[in-house]
Amino acid sequence: MASSLIEVRDLWKIYQLGDVEVQALRAVSLDIAAAEFVAVMGSSGSGKSTFMNIVGCLDQPTRGTYRLNGVDVSTLSSDERATIRNHQIGFVFQNFNLIPRTSAIENVELPLFYSDVAINEQRQRARDALALVGLVGRENHLPNQLSGGQQQRVAIARALVNRPSLLLADEPTANVDVKNQQTILDLICGACRENNVSLLMVTHSLEVAGRFQRVEKLQDFNQPEAAP
Ligand code: ADP
Ligand code: MG
Repeated sequence: MASSLIEVRDLWKIYQLGDVEVQALRAVSLDIAAAEFVAVMGSSGSGKSTFMNIVGCLDQPTRGTYRLNGVDVSTLSSDERATIRNHQIGFVFQNFNLIPRTSAIENVELPLFYSDVAINEQRQRARDALALVGLVGRENHLPNQLSGGQQQRVAIARALVNRPSLLLADEPTANVDVKNQQTILDLICGACRENNVSLLMVTHSLEVAGRFQRVEKLQDFNQPEAAP
C-alpha cells in the first residue's frame, strides 16, 4: 500500500487558559499524498493555523498522531523536528514573516545555512529562487522597501529554496493587494506542481479552493452553535 506523505489521526489540540479549556482541534484525521493539493477552510477560530503549525512541526498536538513520510513526529526531539522542518517543509505565512533589516536574498539564503548545499552554491541558489518568483533586481532590497506582494514572493522563494516535499501556506494572500493575489496563488500552485510538492493551503475563498483536488473543512468547537 502506498503510504501518505501526511497521515493525521484523531488529532486534538487543547489550550488551557486559566479555568477555560479551548479546544482548537478536536479529532482531526487527514491524509495527504505526495504532490496532492488540499485546501483548508473554516471560520475564524476553527483551528486552521493551529493545524498548520502542527503539520509544520512548529507545535505539538495534545493527543493523536501525526506521521510525516511514515515517521511519527511526536516521538522526535525538538532538534529532530527542526531538521525535518528545514529539509522537508516550506512555509508561507499570512504576515510574510521576513526578517526585518535583512535583504531579500539573505532572507532566502537563510534556510540554506542549515542545509547540505555547498556554501559557494548558496548565493546562486537563492538568486535563482528569487528569479523564479520574478524578483530579479530586487535581491538587495530590504523587506520594508518591498510591497506586500513582493514580500510574499520573497517568502515563497525562501519556502522553496530547500526543495521541500510539502508547502504549507496559511492565508498567503490575506495581506496582499487584490491586484497581486492571483500572481501569488499562481506562483505557489505552479511551483508546487512543477516540483511535485504537496500543498496544504488555508483559504477563505471558494474560488481559490476550487483549484484544489480536495477541500478539508475545520469546525469551531468553541462557539455555542457548534455544540453537538
Ligand atoms: P484560525 O486560524 O482558524 O482562525 P486558530 O488556530 O488561530 O484558528 O485558533 C483556534 C482556537 O484556538 C481559537 O479559539 C484561538 O483563540 C485558540 N488559540 C490559538 N492559539 C492559542 C494559544 N496559543 N493559546 C490559547 N488559545 C489559542
Ligand atoms: Mg489563522
